[in-house]
Amino acid sequence: MEPFQHREDSGIPYFSLTLWEREFPHLIAGMSARDRESIQHPNQSNYAWTRSGSGNGVIANRRRLVETLGVPLSSWTCGNQVHGTVIREVDADARGRGHQSRDTAFPETDGLLTREEDVLLTSFYADCVPLFFYSPDMDMIGVAHAGWRGTVGGIGPKMVREFVRRGADRKRIRAVIAPSIGACCYEVDAKVADPLCNILPEADRTVLKSVAEGRWKLDLKEANRRLLRGEGLLEEHLSVTHWCTSCHPDLFHSHRRDQGRTGRMVAFIGKRKG
Ligand SMILES: [Zn+2]
Repeated sequence: MEPFQHREDSGIPYFSLTLWEREFPHLIAGMSARDRESIQHPNQSNYAWTRSGSGNGVIANRRRLVETLGVPLSSWTCGNQVHGTVIREVDADARGRGHQSRDTAFPETDGLLTREEDVLLTSFYADCVPLFFYSPDMDMIGVAHAGWRGTVGGIGPKMVREFVRRGADRKRIRAVIAPSIGACCYEVDAKVADPLCNILPEADRTVLKSVAEGRWKLDLKEANRRLLRGEGLLEEHLSVTHWCTSCHPDLFHSHRRDQGRTGRMVAFIGKRKG
C-alpha cells in the first residue's frame, strides 16, 4: 500500500504520510510537493538554502507549509546536510535550530531524532532518499537523508541503533522510505555500484541491474529497505513509496532531471502537543 497521499485540500499541496497519521494521530509527517508553477520557478517550492542556488523565499515557503500543517515555524529544526551519517538528538533547547538561517542549523548532520513534542524534524531532498522512523513504545521519531553516500555509510541502520540505544524495541520500530529517484531514472557507474555491493549481502545486490558495460540501474529505495531488514526491522514495519522524483516534474524537484537547477523539497515529522 502506498504510504503517502498527495493532498490539495488545505493550503499548499503536499504529500502526507497517511499510513502513520491514521494509526498515530498525534504525528504530523510528510513531504512537500511542488506545483505546476514551480516547474518554471523552482524557488516557489524550495525549502532549503543551497550552496549554488539562491535562498530567496525559503522562509516564506516554510511559513506557508507550517501554516498548512498547523504548527509554528519556531518548531522547524534542521541540520546542514553533507551526505554523511551523523545523527543528532534534538532536545527541548535545540528546538527551532536552523528555522531562519543556515548558521543555527546543526552542522554536518544528516539524521535527526527526538522524543520532544512540538519539534518538527526536517531534512531536504532533490532525489536522495528520505527515511522516516517511529518507535511507538518510546514515542520517538526520526528522519534521515540517504543519498547513495549516506546509504553506503549505513545511515538507516545507524538510526535504528540510535533508537535501540535509547530503549526502543527494534521489533516495534517502523520505517518508511519516501519519494526519491527510482530505478527507472537512476543510472550509476562503478563509483556508486562498487561500494554499494561491498555493504550488501550477495542476495541483495539485485538492487543493481546491469544495463551496459560499467553501467547499472540502481533501486536506492529498495537498497535502503534491505539494509533496514538486515538491521532487524520486521517486514511488516517497512513501507516503500512508489513515487519517483524524476518521473514527475509537476510534483517533485529532481537534481538529476533538472541538471542541478532545482529547489529542495522538505521531509518532515513531528508530534503535536498533547
Ligand atoms: Zn523515474
